[in-house]
Amino acid sequence: MRKTFNFSAGPAMLPEEVLQQASQELLDYRGSGQSVMEMSHRSSVYNDIFQETKTNLKKLVNIPDNYEIIFTPGGASALFGMIAQNLMPKKSADYIITGNFSKKAAQEAKKFGYINIVASSEDKNFTYIPDVSKIQFNETADYVHICENNTIFGTKFKQLPNTNGIPLIADMSSCYLSEPIDVTQYGMIYGGVQKNIGPAGVGLSIINKDIIPIEISDNVPTMNRFDTYIDNDSMYNTPPTYTIYMCGLVFKWLLDQGGLSAIQQKNIKKAQLLYDYIDQSALFSNPVNKNDRSLMNVPFVTGDPQLDKKFIKEASDHHLVNLAGHRLVGGMRASIYNAMPFAGVQALVDFMEKFERENR
Ligand SMILES: *Cc1c(COP(=O)(O)O)cnc(C)c1O
Repeated sequence: MRKTFNFSAGPAMLPEEVLQQASQELLDYRGSGQSVMEMSHRSSVYNDIFQETKTNLKKLVNIPDNYEIIFTPGGASALFGMIAQNLMPKKSADYIITGNFSKKAAQEAKKFGYINIVASSEDKNFTYIPDVSKIQFNETADYVHICENNTIFGTKFKQLPNTNGIPLIADMSSCYLSEPIDVTQYGMIYGGVQKNIGPAGVGLSIINKDIIPIEISDNVPTMNRFDTYIDNDSMYNTPPTYTIYMCGLVFKWLLDQGGLSAIQQKNIKKAQLLYDYIDQSALFSNPVNKNDRSLMNVPFVTGDPQLDKKFIKEASDHHLVNLAGHRLVGGMRASIYNAMPFAGVQALVDFMEKFERENR
């Protein structure tokens, strides 16, 4: 077993079994005589990898036939603008602002239309999720956008807004496949894969075909059009072949774990261990409204920036790495995605207890 636990927000830990398998297949993929990195994306051996990847994702998430899976280069940030370019025929959309990434998503969309900020939690530094039942959506909005799990601030929507039939689009970068997903509740879900699914370099979207307008402006570059990806099975160009292969190994691993309900149970146990410790601690605290806490990203502070620094340094000496909070919030943050074993969270809590005893 690897002895370092990496709490990075992303790129983040990958399941050890997946890395083992990838390393076994690195030089010679299943007798093909080639590494997956070297394969033509048009070869039948790669096509099999790609199709199996999609099939396994469909199985995991239970994706209906009117939804398309696409892989796009550039992660979530590239999709911020593409969503507005493709899905805003009436040039208007509603955004709920719950952190830095939803802000960025709205800023990109503003380049292509009129964006209504229908709710925001910025007044309390994004430590909560606005009450979705109180939000008035604009009837003319092409879609409603949320960031479902807020990586930097450690909040998560526990209830989806009722958008009265307006397609809901969710950035799931940091909670992708961490729990069962009912895709029929969404027009589109998307995210960068490097948090919970694979190595960096690709955005994964699941889109209801019905929300894609028939006419898209000729000004939209080919590589920014969703129909380019749909019509060419994400292979209009050379896709990030190796990253997609790695995502496929993770999908298979998730199925072997028992699927998304099973992984959700594990994620709840891990998060509970950490939050329970923080809540009874006299030294550490978590600023987030309890009902809105993320299972994936857990920010915490001692209240003393010097002590926070000492904690991060000493944790790192104990093989608990990348615990510094995002520069916007400071303090610490433990990202405990699917691939973080329970033993990793236990090691963190044990170390926090020790640190608390020594620094009271
Ligand atoms: C990391 C992250 C992003 C940015 O992802 P990139 O793939 O780096 O563009 C966007 N949204 C959320 C919620 C994230 O966690």
